[in-house]
Amino acid sequence: MAAILSIDGVCKRFGAHTALDRVDLTVEQGEFIALLGPSGCGKTTLLRAIAGFLAPDAGRIAIAGQDVSRLPAHRRPLNTVFQNYALFPHLNVLDNVAYGPRRHGLSKRQAHEKARDALAMVGLPDMGARYPREMSGGQQQRVALARAIVNEPKLLLLDEPLSALDLKLRRRMQLELKHLQESLGIAFVFVTHDQEEAMTMADRIVVMHAGRIEQIGQGPEIYRAPATQFVAEFIGEANLLPYRRVPGEAAITLMLQGAVFPCAQALDAPSGMAVLRPEDIALSVVAPGATPTGETALHGVITDVIRIGSHTLVHVRVDDQTLTARLAGAAPEDVVAGNTVRLAFDPAQLHLIGGAQ
Ligand code: ATP
Repeated sequence: MAAILSIDGVCKRFGAHTALDRVDLTVEQGEFIALLGPSGCGKTTLLRAIAGFLAPDAGRIAIAGQDVSRLPAHRRPLNTVFQNYALFPHLNVLDNVAYGPRRHGLSKRQAHEKARDALAMVGLPDMGARYPREMSGGQQQRVALARAIVNEPKLLLLDEPLSALDLKLRRRMQLELKHLQESLGIAFVFVTHDQEEAMTMADRIVVMHAGRIEQIGQGPEIYRAPATQFVAEFIGEANLLPYRRVPGEAAITLMLQGAVFPCAQALDAPSGMAVLRPEDIALSVVAPGATPTGETALHGVITDVIRIGSHTLVHVRVDDQTLTARLAGAAPEDVVAGNTVRLAFDPAQLHLIGGAQ
């Protein structure tokens, strides 16, 4: 597949602050990409650089093979949907959506026809005569979307477009937007700080941190095999267990309780962090008075049991570290604070990040 967007070595500084640090990214035609990361990591700055609203200090941005680095925003073959919708309050919905085609020289009749098609696509076929103030937030967001797709851009940029909506509507819109994107075949670059939103919609997720791309991959890949400690902690919940490689053997020693585990993963660094997800821990209570045994498991004392709707989180003190185990449903009666438990897991579930500290 041909790349619709190529970003090479893009840098942006604001005074002493580096907002983008040598960012490289290639987006394929028809791909849904989420830029995900904590507040201030540079997501919006990257989106604005692609859109042409700010000039990078270094690097190159190409759309469909054409270098657009020096092209002003309005001449780039893309559209942007903003968080605040940015609709014209004095125009009705049909004229809001027809505005782009009119500017591109279409007659009023032709522009209205295209606008009606776009409104039907976003599920608002009969709302053309209304004004933005007469619509709900969700409806206004659909109008903003119609206004962007009516121009048939090669690339659509979306800056947290669902963040003003309540959770239920937001979830529904996430799926609608994904289905719409699939049927249009337009590449989407979508900024969000919500990992669930990124996982729901994106073909690939770009995890950003402090102006850099930490990892690019499909949601499950990023969750199962985080490239860095930052990604492991940012995506879902992670227990990070320091390890050392056993020289000459396919095995590692966990610093916690010195337990030795086999390990199939190729390792470059002599030490690092093993990522263990809470749902991969099988927890069993050790009978009072019994001495915990077994080399291939950890042992600790429960400090907290937290019931969260469909699952339960159990915090366990192991030496000087607290690990979290996740149980489906309610915890068994004997899983209470103060009890000693055995934490067993399949060593194949450990994901090792070499060199992390
Ligand atoms: P959020 O999720 O909070 O919107 P973000 O990841 O989109 O965060 P950016 O808006 O890209 O973050 O900002 C990245 C960094 O650059 C932040 O530290 C921000 O304060 C800084 N920054 C952004 N725009 C400017 C500007 N015009 N002048 C100075 N600093 C800026």
